[in-house]
Amino acid sequence: VIEHGQPEHAIVTTCAYCGVGCSFRAEMKGEQVIRMVPDKDGQANHGHSCVKGRFAFGYATHKDRITKPMIRASIHDPWQEVSWEQAINHAASELKRIQAKYGKASIGGITSSRCTNEETYLVQKLIRAGFGNNNVDTCARVCHSPTGYGLKQTFGESSGTQDFDSVMKSDVIMVIGANPTDGHPVFGSAMKKRLRQGAKLIVVDPREIDLVKNSPHVKADYHLKLRPGTNVALINALAHVIVTENLIDEAFVQSRCDVASFNKWKTFIADPRHAPEQTETITGVAASDMRAAARLYASVNNGAIYYGLGVTEHSQGSTMVIGIANLAMATGNLGRIGVGVNPLRGQNNVQGSCDMGSFPHEYPGYRHVSDPATRDLFSTAWNVPLSLDPGLRIPNMFEAALDNSFMGLYVEGEDIAQSDPDIKHVHAALRAMECVIVQDIFLNETAKFAHVFLPGASFLEKDGTFTNAERRISPVRKVMKPLAGYQDWEVTQLLSNAMGYPMNYQHPSEIMAEIASLTPTFTGVSYEKIDELGSIQWPCNEETPTGTPIMHTEEFMRNDGKGLFMLTDYVATHERITPMYPLILTTGRILSQYNVGAQTRRTANNMWHQEDRLELHPHDAEDRGIVDGDWVGIKSRAGETVLRALITDRVQPGVVYTTFHFPESGANVITTDNSDWATNCPEYKVTAVQVTKVSQP
Ligand code: SF4
Repeated sequence: VIEHGQPEHAIVTTCAYCGVGCSFRAEMKGEQVIRMVPDKDGQANHGHSCVKGRFAFGYATHKDRITKPMIRASIHDPWQEVSWEQAINHAASELKRIQAKYGKASIGGITSSRCTNEETYLVQKLIRAGFGNNNVDTCARVCHSPTGYGLKQTFGESSGTQDFDSVMKSDVIMVIGANPTDGHPVFGSAMKKRLRQGAKLIVVDPREIDLVKNSPHVKADYHLKLRPGTNVALINALAHVIVTENLIDEAFVQSRCDVASFNKWKTFIADPRHAPEQTETITGVAASDMRAAARLYASVNNGAIYYGLGVTEHSQGSTMVIGIANLAMATGNLGRIGVGVNPLRGQNNVQGSCDMGSFPHEYPGYRHVSDPATRDLFSTAWNVPLSLDPGLRIPNMFEAALDNSFMGLYVEGEDIAQSDPDIKHVHAALRAMECVIVQDIFLNETAKFAHVFLPGASFLEKDGTFTNAERRISPVRKVMKPLAGYQDWEVTQLLSNAMGYPMNYQHPSEIMAEIASLTPTFTGVSYEKIDELGSIQWPCNEETPTGTPIMHTEEFMRNDGKGLFMLTDYVATHERITPMYPLILTTGRILSQYNVGAQTRRTANNMWHQEDRLELHPHDAEDRGIVDGDWVGIKSRAGETVLRALITDRVQPGVVYTTFHFPESGANVITTDNSDWATNCPEYKVTAVQVTKVSQP
């Protein structure tokens, strides 16, 4: 219940929804939040907010919150409330029992991009130091892991290049596979402001997002409405035009890039097979539009690219990220304000969860676990021997569970039983495990497979930091006491101590101090400095003591300081349409809801979007005798579900689209196990399906 009235005091904290990371004043009456007011001094939002951050915080005190630890012997038994001590000791003894029976590598954990940097750091430390293996992965596996890979390879750092304010100097904005007005609303508004000032807009998306023509006073100059799964063919076609029409920024390439790699790439991309005229049958986009869009991007002073999960969640997600990086380097659109390559991170702390060493092959700061010097650094600091072997990725954990070699899992703040693809396979793997520990604020779908439930704390109940899509580390401040008694980092610490690896932090600031001492891009970060400056964009160290709004201004972060071009052959996805599965399903988000909806569905004043619907082109609907509002069955090679139809020409013929905010809609029942070749990021965006009219379920 949100009570109105005059606040007694206010505490500045950071929104826990999307990667914009808006700053808010939590206005309080005693221990109760009565209003969330966007902070005019917020450096990511400048006093703006969207409906989620402003109104959708009531979930923190929703009646569904679980505030007592619980255990059960089997997932078929009822939960039994126990003390924290009993729950933690039970979890630790189960994990130790599994390790004794199946080996050290038979347990692991999953971190969440919803949690703070400090919490994430502590979970990966527990796993590496306390579990004795590198079986830690993050939910970023299923969203932006290709960004991490692609940008690390080409630019030397796994992050976007700009701050948000940079867009106000862009002359052309290219939005690829992102829907900023729904997914990142405050930044989407900033983008619209710049477009109203006259910047040009290129949208690359299979669906007509609002920016194409449905936003007031904004219209895309080009909407390249490509077929799902053909991103790489399209980016290669744009690059082909730039190379063959001499639109290269030679001075930038010669001074800032690895010239040998550029020459190789130039020969590759100039091949006629990449010409727009050759690829229009693949992409479905007119060659003339591809040529015009490429000329526009390359001909202005400042061209900026913003992209989202429509780039990464493909079998060629990493290739596409590299293709975008190639395009920006070739046109000199890097290293200054107004340009850049900018992944729009979905969740509030995707950037941070990756920075904090949540991947099974990387320590904090993206340093490989097989590097002996890095291993020794952490081993000395943590006072424990560490493994040089990379651990299991999330999909590998599931495989290993079904092989009876991975039997214990600690999941903090992530609902893998709803959000991961090919969900029947995920459920089977979870059922096979002997101990699943879920730490969350609600009994989520994953908890149905859990043996131990440890109550988590909402963002209003904890101290820490989030890192947004522009690398901005912002403060998260506790405005009310944790309902279950502990903040999440404290629970991880309790589990670590029970496992026999001692931790004794008194406050998250001590965890950040440790992160700073071990991570070159964070050496200048501290809570004192965040309080003083409001926020800090990493890298922040001796060279850049107040942080770095724009990266790669003098040189790239690779060892030789040069940007690396890489070849990007288009390879068609395995997921093909057939007479049995003649339509391609792709997915996205809507403004009022958030991911699997655990928070927004529990916020009464944010519920005008009540269901996920299947968008269907009028021609495809007519062929099937479907009218608006009909119930339709959607069947893929992986599974089937039922939704109501929404007939619209925002999707092209042959393509259907849905959101995934409601568990009952089961979007991930039908997504397949295809994944990115480099990172295993699932191919959520391309699923061949059949759609038929059905009666109401
Ligand atoms: Fe929160 Fe994102 Fe909305 Fe800002 S734009 S208020 S960070 S959901």
